[in-house]
Amino acid sequence: MSHRILITGASVAGNTAAWWLGRAGLDVTVVERTPGFRDGGQNIDVRGVGREVLRRMGLEQAALEQGTGEEGTAWVEEDGSVAAQFLTADTDADGPTAEMEILRGDLARLLYEPAGEHATYRFGDSIAGVEQDDDGATVTFASGTTERFDVVIVAEGVGSTSREMVFPGENAPRWMNLTIAYFTIPRQADDDRLWRWYNAPGGRSVSLRPDRHGTARAMLSVQQPPGGEQDWDGDRQKAWLRTRFADAGWQTDRVLDALETTDDFYLDVLRQVRMPRWSGGRVVLTGDAAWCATPIAGYGTTLAVTGAYVLAQELIRSTDMRAAFKAYEQAMRPMVEDAQSVPRLAPRLANPHSRLGIGLLHGALRVASRPVVRSVAGKLFGGRSRDVDLSRYDTPTSGGSLIAPRSPAAAGLSPLLALGAVAVVLGASAIVGRRNAPDPSHPGIRRWYRRLDKPGYTPPDAVFGAAWPMLETGLAVGGYRLLRQPSGTARNAAVGLWLLNTAMVGGWTQLFFREKRLGASAVASGAMVASSAAYLATAAKVDRPAAAAAIPFVAWLGFATLLAERIWRDNPGERR
Ligand SMILES: Cc1cc2nc3c(=O)[nH]c(=O)nc-3n(C[C@H](O)[C@H](O)[C@H](O)COP(=O)(O)OP(=O)(O)OC[C@H]3O[C@@H](n4cnc5c(N)ncnc54)[C@H](O)[C@@H]3O)c2cc1C
Repeated sequence: MSHRILITGASVAGNTAAWWLGRAGLDVTVVERTPGFRDGGQNIDVRGVGREVLRRMGLEQAALEQGTGEEGTAWVEEDGSVAAQFLTADTDADGPTAEMEILRGDLARLLYEPAGEHATYRFGDSIAGVEQDDDGATVTFASGTTERFDVVIVAEGVGSTSREMVFPGENAPRWMNLTIAYFTIPRQADDDRLWRWYNAPGGRSVSLRPDRHGTARAMLSVQQPPGGEQDWDGDRQKAWLRTRFADAGWQTDRVLDALETTDDFYLDVLRQVRMPRWSGGRVVLTGDAAWCATPIAGYGTTLAVTGAYVLAQELIRSTDMRAAFKAYEQAMRPMVEDAQSVPRLAPRLANPHSRLGIGLLHGALRVASRPVVRSVAGKLFGGRSRDVDLSRYDTPTSGGSLIAPRSPAAAGLSPLLALGAVAVVLGASAIVGRRNAPDPSHPGIRRWYRRLDKPGYTPPDAVFGAAWPMLETGLAVGGYRLLRQPSGTARNAAVGLWLLNTAMVGGWTQLFFREKRLGASAVASGAMVASSAAYLATAAKVDRPAAAAAIPFVAWLGFATLLAERIWRDNPGERR
């Protein structure tokens, strides 16, 4: 067991590690760069396995009690009317708003106060240099002092300077093409308990969230490639936001006015931290400093709490520091990779640039918020299959490896078998589709379809004719690539979702053209948006080209859902 431990960064990850290591009797010093404890920050959430860690610390209930009281998420139109909403009361699973929504500063303080009983905190200092030898690490601080430690834990967040000092050039950041500014604004009488999200053309969004401090939390997002905005000073950042959002509508003027007076303005150009290793000698990274997944993943705080706990447990249990670092990395990598697998397209889909795109987004969300598909959406936002298994820390240390050896992966299908399987599945779907098509061989269906009142943006038949073969080719490529992958939980789930989506395509033509059930087919179309998005997200964990081949399919289904819903609304005489 290592005795003297230095932790840099007194936020979520640093305080969690200090809490566990201090209580285990180790000599823990926490050094934080800012002159005092940092209370700032906006709404964050803790999900799944992160909640289990808080439960093990006896802090889960307190965190729930200090929650922001957010009751759900609503996408609003320019006049404030609700386009789609997800209420926490309507579902058991965590949706865009999780059950445990808390301000970053409140959670960090909740961890910091009890951690302070067993660790020494030093504010206003940081690492200036580290020299390592066989017996320890000599750390020189910016304050000028020099001390020896057995282990140095770097928990300094996404822009960690100590990481760059010890692992120069190793981080290969993945820029997410999204810039977000967060700040607190005065609450007004008609602010409610919902996270209100307004999309304006040009890839901009404005959102307002409730808190329990009598204020409201504002967020301005711009979907664009990075332009170095994170390095500008605050005045330049604010001036840029004022120009970008000048004509955005809804409550934007109120939010921009508050830029003048807010005292916790924070702007970040989102990027993931991608490190090939998390430790070197006696220095180990954790939290955002090791693997920032960005707020788009909705999992950063869960990862920080969980990673710090796993690292602390491995250090407490092992007599060999390097073995502890190895076990920590082996346990956390799958969970981190899962959270980081969010496609770079996601910010673009959530922040459309055109009015048509915003209409499509709202249409897809409206359908996805319906009870029949809500549980699927909840699962997309909820706990993940690659969460670390904490049960390994339930038992006292045995002295042996705590990581169960992985069973060898079963091989994927041979090229011939994979091709055969794809041909059979897509062939069956195509046969059902052709059987119901509104073409000259089915004059009854064709006449009925032509009679329907359709919106002006309905593509001509020739476009449908060209689009489907292209989409089916994408599905074929994806299915083939996935079937060739070794069998495993994620791969099998992706293949299952591929089969489901293929079957649903055939099923939809049956519902719409043959049974003429317009309402049911609009709901089915929305369900397909959710199931195809789930397919894309799952495939991305296994094979990125397979996921990329599914993107046109998901986009087309979003459009088709809007169209199906409009046809259902505009043809009341045909409703069943
Ligand atoms: C002030 C603040 C506001 C935030 N607001 C939001 C938000 O609104 N929404 C959101 O999703 N996420 C926000 N985050 C990020 C969020 O806290 C993290 O994504 C997540 O909780 C992981 O936490 P972490 O402890 O790894 O890193 P962080 O929470 O980023 O904490 C890093 C800590 O290290 C300190 N530090 C940095 N460099 C050094 C150094 N060289 N030496 C010593 N200390 C150092 C920082 O001051 C900070 O206290 C915020 C973070 C901070 C610090």
